[in-house]
Parts: sequence; structure tokens; C-alpha cells
Amino acid sequence: MVKRYFRPEIELLSRDALKELQFKRLKKIINKVYNLVPHYREKFKRAGVKPSNLKSLEDIRLFPFTTREDLFVDYPFGLLAEPLEKVVRLHTSSGTTGKPKALFFSKEDIKAQAELIARSLVMSGATASDILQNSMTYGLFTGALVMHYGAELLGMLVIPAGPGNTERQIELMQTFGTTCIHMTPSYALYVATIIQERGIRPGIDIKLKRAYLGAEPYSEETRRKIETMLKVEVYNCYGLSEMGGPGVGFECPAKDGLHIWEDAFLVEVVNPNTGEPLNPGEVGELVLTTLNRTAMPLIRYRTKDLTTLLEGPCHCGRTHIKIARILGRADDMFIVRGVNIFPQQIEGVLMSIKGVAQNYQIILEGYDEMTIKVEIDREFFDGRIERILKLREEITERLRQALQVRPKVELVEPGTLPISEGKAKRVIDKRVL
Ligand code: ADP
Ligand code: ZN
Repeated sequence: MVKRYFRPEIELLSRDALKELQFKRLKKIINKVYNLVPHYREKFKRAGVKPSNLKSLEDIRLFPFTTREDLFVDYPFGLLAEPLEKVVRLHTSSGTTGKPKALFFSKEDIKAQAELIARSLVMSGATASDILQNSMTYGLFTGALVMHYGAELLGMLVIPAGPGNTERQIELMQTFGTTCIHMTPSYALYVATIIQERGIRPGIDIKLKRAYLGAEPYSEETRRKIETMLKVEVYNCYGLSEMGGPGVGFECPAKDGLHIWEDAFLVEVVNPNTGEPLNPGEVGELVLTTLNRTAMPLIRYRTKDLTTLLEGPCHCGRTHIKIARILGRADDMFIVRGVNIFPQQIEGVLMSIKGVAQNYQIILEGYDEMTIKVEIDREFFDGRIERILKLREEITERLRQALQVRPKVELVEPGTLPISEGKAKRVIDKRVL
């Protein structure tokens, strides 16, 4: 089973051969959308390009970007490149306001994405004898279902736990000997804390080996904290509904960047303001083109996710390009007193400080004040006030150094701040600016 999903003829393909394969697929998909999707044909015409202008892979730059807004023109079926009878699945992505984005998949699309997941799981060392507890949200969200299909394809035993009910999650882990979990990093931190508080011993009472964590940004420090608390290897798993859900980017055992399967996606990183391509090492917006999607292909889709391309061969031997851990979405960034800040920067500092527990919240209020509420270990609430004050000073000072802005820090007991079973909401903006 496992052998079938390790695909050396694709995963280890030389860069040149990989580019050739991509070009062949790109030509096909550009032709397809031009011929079958009026929305694309019109856009291409307005930009003055035709499929015949695509003479090399680099010529993709001649074609216009697809944005989130495009998904709402002729909503919901406008971007379909196949008749409805070929479409078997709808997923939506939350979209904080208004209508949800509607994404459609054919049978082939579902299978292809599941195969990418199976390939990624094998890359992390998983086999058919692993037991995956899938604690992402099932339903319209792609997160759980796509992983579920991929893990089943590989032959893993899948426990469709869904999120929440932490006591039951832990009970499932103990009863069935869960070896792998799939959840958001913020929920994993919470579960880890409860496991610790209950005196359950990772490695003895529960036998987790790997945690696949994604759906929201997190820092290297959070990864390390979860790895230590749960005695697991954490693999970063990135995806978005528009690209078929999780499994778009996945870490290999080198764990220094996420491979994007380039037989399925064409990867660009562009300057978010000008749309110009950026070099490896420069941070910009990830732009993806689906190379073998059938129902709803997306050309040069602006993900709004910020990252950078990592150059050079990977220790694991795979040739597919790597991106750095996602810094956040362009719209996650907030500005305090003229300084650009991503929540992940704050998280990175907090999670590296001893005494800080798993949860925090960023509150922006008044005329540009930033208060950070931080849960700290219970042992600090033993009446020795000077220990708490010292910790608060350390947290404040470390944040000031990292952010160049001095926040107000409030320390609270574990379990005080709202927990999230799905994507965490870290920033509350109540400013009167
Ligand atoms: P939405 O959040 O808009 O409902 P999705 O559920 O499709 O959309 O979530 C996709 C988004 O989640 C990505 O565009 C990215 O911002 C974020 N995301 C997913 N996985 C990761 C990850 N491993 N690291 C950082 N961000 C991630
Ligand atoms: Zn690798």
C-alpha cells in the first residue's frame, strides 16, 4: 500500500523533467478554461492574451491573476469547466463576511487530492498500520474530509473524531491507540495542556507519533512546544479550499519548509502590491495554478498567504519546490504605532518563554494601544506576587525587543481565554482610530 503512494518517478523527478511535465499540463489547462469557461475567456481577452501565447512555463506571467473576487462573478457555478453532472462535491470556505466561496470538485479531483495527501503522509513516515484521529471540522470545510480520504487511501485506520470535546478526544487516543492526529495548532496546544493536567503520560498512556497541524499559521516555537508536550513529530500541513484543501504544502522529515507537489500546482511568489515575481528568499504572496484540476481549475490564484520560495535541493531527495512556513495572510497583519505586526510573531515570542501556557489573545484598543493577555502556568498563582511580576516584565521586554512596540501584558490563569476548536481568533480590534 505504502509503496504505491511513494512515487519516486514523480517525487524525485529532475527539475527539468518536472518543468516539462508542468508545461504540458499548463498548456492543457489554459486551453481548457479558455474554451470552456466564458469568465476566463473574457479575462484573457481583456488582458490581450490567448492560449497560443504560452510558449514556455514563464509565459504564465502574461496571463491575468484570479482573485477571490473572481469566485463571486457568476456565482456560484460561473467558473465550472465541466458540466454539473461531472461535479460530485461542493466545499465552501468560511469567508468571514457575506457569501461563502463555493468550490467544486469532480470524482477525479477528489481522488487526485486524496492521492496527494496519501503521498504526503507516506513522506512523513506514516504507513497503513497507523491510526489517524482526525480532529478537524467535518462538513463544508475541506480540512477534515480531504485528509480523511487520503489517509483511508493509504490504508490507515481513520477515527473521524471531529473537533472539540477534549475529554473524549483523549479517551479515543487511549482506547484505540491513536498514532497520528490532525488538528489546528491552537487546538493541539489546548489538548496537550489538558493531557498534562490530567497526568496522562505521552509515550506511555497515549502513543502519538505524529501530529499533522495546519489550517492556521503557527510559529516554529509552537511546533517545538507541542512536540515536547506530546512527544510527537509535528508536520506542518498547508492548504486552502480553493486548491482542494489540505495537502497542498506538506513538510518532509527535514522539516525546514513545505514541499508543494509541483505535478499538481504551479507555484509563484509575487509582490502583493505590483504582482511582479519575487526571487527565492523574498517574502510575498503565494500564487497557485491548478495543473490537473478538472471541475474548477484556477489560474494564477492569489492566495493572500505570505511566504517565500526556498531554493536548493532538499535533504529528503525530493525535487519539488519548498516554501517557508506561512507567515500569515496579507490581511492578518495589523499596524500598531506605525509598526507592521503578524500575530505569529507574538506567538513565537510567547511560546519560547518558560512559564507561558498555551493560550493568548491580542487586543487592540483605545488610540492604538496593544494589550496581550497571556495564560501562564497555574503554579504561578501561589500568592508569590513577585514571581508573576518578574514573568510579566520578561514577557513585555521580549515582545518589545521583537516588535519594537511595548505592549501592555496581562497574565491570566490557564483556561481563562476562549479556546478554539477550529481556527483561532487571536486579534480583537476595538480601536477608535
Ligand atoms: P478560510 O479560512 O478563508 O475559510 P480555508 O478554510 O480554505 O479558508 O483556509 C485556508 C487558509 O488557512 C489558507 O489560505 C491559509 O491562510 C490558512 N492556512 C491553512 N494551512 C495553514 C498552515 N499550515 N499554515 C498557515 N496558514 C495556513
Ligand atoms: Zn524534503
